[in-house]
Amino acid sequence: MITMIAASSNAHKIKEIQSIMSKFGVKVVSRKEAGVPEFEIEEDGETFEENSLKKAEAIMKATGKLTVADDSGLMVDYLGGAPGVYSARFAGEECDDEKNNEKLLKHLEGLPAEDRKAKFVSVITLMFPDGNTIVARGECPGRIIETPTGENGFGYDPLFVPDGLSKTFAQLSDKEKNSISHRARALEKLEEILTEREIF
Ligand code: IMP
Repeated sequence: MITMIAASSNAHKIKEIQSIMSKFGVKVVSRKEAGVPEFEIEEDGETFEENSLKKAEAIMKATGKLTVADDSGLMVDYLGGAPGVYSARFAGEECDDEKNNEKLLKHLEGLPAEDRKAKFVSVITLMFPDGNTIVARGECPGRIIETPTGENGFGYDPLFVPDGLSKTFAQLSDKEKNSISHRARALEKLEEILTEREIF
């Protein structure tokens, strides 16, 4: 069986990636499970693609093995695509989800619904030991509401209503969110590419 090392330690993300990779006979293990020593990977790219590649490359170089990394965030039209790659630290290096959400609401204060368009983006990169990569991008369009609503999920979930629904991501079950999310769409794209190119 082929093993693929995930740059992320997030168990939910690994489970989602595993559910796709199982179809190709690939087992996904976290960097911790793979015994990769802890080291910081600086996410200083200007795009999700750059950061996703940086993470996949750092783990591939440390292990010499097939790796997978993802980078994601929220892009708000009215803010010219911000917070984008700065989504996790929008309100500063020491911030948390609540502070990020507060800052976002402040920036959009008083704006009508039609000016509150946003999308979540996820970019997944597979890197092979020879340096070759496969990149898959997924997007989930929606809008930012005025009051945080819902208890599930994380990050900007309580403020984001995906197109076609009237609930926030934080009001959806994991299963519902995972069927339409940016990450799910990037994984669908990845599956398409792997199938088309008969990679495994
Ligand atoms: P990362 O790619 O996991 O580092 O995510 C970067 C940041 O984007 C997170 O800290 C969140 O603020 C935001 N983000 C990414 N995906 C989601 C999501 O599914 N829901 C809410 N926030 C998200």
